[in-house]
Amino acid sequence: MPTKTKDATEPIHDSMFDAVLARLDVAAKIYGLSDEVANILRNPQKQVKVSLPIMMDNGKVTVFEGFRTIHSTVLGPSKGGIRYAMDVCDDEVKALSAWMTFKCAVANLPYGGAKGGIKCDPRTLSLGELERLTKAYTVSMADVFGANRDIPAPDMGTGGREMAWLVDAYNKVHRGDFPGVTTGKPVGLGGSLGRDAATGRGVMVATLAALKKLNLDSKKVTAAVQGFGNVGSHAARLLNEQGVKICAIGDHTVTLWNENGIDIKAALAFAKANGNMLKGFTGGVEIKSAELLTANVDVLVPAALQNVITEEIAINIKAKLIIEGANGPTTPEADAILQEKNVIVVPDILANGGGVTVSYFEWVQNQYGHYWTEDEVNTKHDASMNAAFDNVWNNAEQYKTTMRLGAYITALKKVEFGIKAKGTY
Ligand code: GLU
Repeated sequence: MPTKTKDATEPIHDSMFDAVLARLDVAAKIYGLSDEVANILRNPQKQVKVSLPIMMDNGKVTVFEGFRTIHSTVLGPSKGGIRYAMDVCDDEVKALSAWMTFKCAVANLPYGGAKGGIKCDPRTLSLGELERLTKAYTVSMADVFGANRDIPAPDMGTGGREMAWLVDAYNKVHRGDFPGVTTGKPVGLGGSLGRDAATGRGVMVATLAALKKLNLDSKKVTAAVQGFGNVGSHAARLLNEQGVKICAIGDHTVTLWNENGIDIKAALAFAKANGNMLKGFTGGVEIKSAELLTANVDVLVPAALQNVITEEIAINIKAKLIIEGANGPTTPEADAILQEKNVIVVPDILANGGGVTVSYFEWVQNQYGHYWTEDEVNTKHDASMNAAFDNVWNNAEQYKTTMRLGAYITALKKVEFGIKAKGTY
């Protein structure tokens, strides 16, 4: 339900958490969730906010804000990434933490959901400043995190480097070696083979599963991928390897179109050599970033930011299939339009669950102290993603609804079972 109305015709959600609750309410109604369980899920279990005074390289102290929200631990320790970005705030972290609860349940992992972040622009910080900030945040959260309590991971603006710093600070506070306190660590420090590409791989597997349902041959379809970071670049590469012609790619520096298909290997090599940016790559003509979303392709993969598919964009979308690599790329208002247009949307909480699935495998390997080959990881991942896809598809069919609501219903069934079985005080 829209939470706020700008004028009579233009409903908007200016709170991301309200947008999550809007979907939850609709799914809860279709599924018949009890008001008591719905009320538990509307209220995150724990919200922590810390201030982090950091000595900058110039000798001056800057105070940063750090957040961690644990939405639910009903199905297991809470799981979710840590984001470094300027828009990190209570509301965003709360919304993303709830999505993690649903994402982990859809992926059938023994985890609850959490999210954290630091309000900062990591591109403007030096290596030393980033390390001090990450370690200060970890020390502040030392009693929140734990391999059997709350397990962070990378998210926007963070990666293996930050996770290695996090483990180091956590180990020093707790005086031991606790690799399972976080996932997404570098391989060699308890990280899992296949973790880096896992979210993109999940997007590829979900795309192939959806194409199969639509009787479309991956070798005959075209796609546009928004975002060329950890998710978008691997998704474009892996889809391309399956024969999909990638006609548009883009990042925060440039968006490119080539109707004959972009040479993804060349784009990856270019970005690698140019600070992970596509600007200057000549494999396509430059278009506006919104034009990528409405491009004449079969499959659209938004794998960058939230709220990019608005009503205006949705009206003009030509793709038959949208695979949400990013968290929350589609607004609830755009959802309604896409549904009317019969565009199949494979929702974020299913489509980008490959990352947290391999995070779970990393955590299992850490607990065992025994490590798997990349093939083993990928095989287990693909089986898990296909099972999650089928489960969501079947629930969507059973409840005669969209895949997004089918995914929420899949999650609600599991979380409701957990809440009822465990009981309350
Ligand atoms: N940050 C990623 C996500 O949003 C991964 C979370 C994890 O691996 O715990 O799914």
